Amino acid sequence: MKNKIKTPICRICSNKITSEDQLVFNKIPLCNSFPSEEVKKPKLHNLKIGACRNCGLVQLTEYPSSELIVPTHSWIRYNEPESHLIEVSNYLNCIFFYLYISSM
Ligand SMILES: [Zn+2]
Repeated sequence: MKNKIKTPICRICSNKITSEDQLVFNKIPLCNSFPSEEVKKPKLHNLKIGACRNCGLVQLTEYPSSELIVPTHSWIRYNEPESHLIEVSNYLNCIFFYLYISSM
């Protein structure tokens, strides 16, 4: 049986997000994936980010289950500086703006 790939849907407006509107980074290690000495290989996941042409939301279009990304150690806390998040947001906006202009 052929594996059919679903077209991602925007989480806000349900608009389809086409492959032209996605960045695919392929397999990357999951956050908090610290393999043991026996396992040696981290768990990997496809990282895909898409921008909705209707509402503009930038979002993950493929994501792992929440059980896989919850920290295994309760003492791990996320305290990312807001300035870094703004820089990442601006960077992604530039990339998607370039892709949008290039597709016209
Ligand atoms: Zn949308």
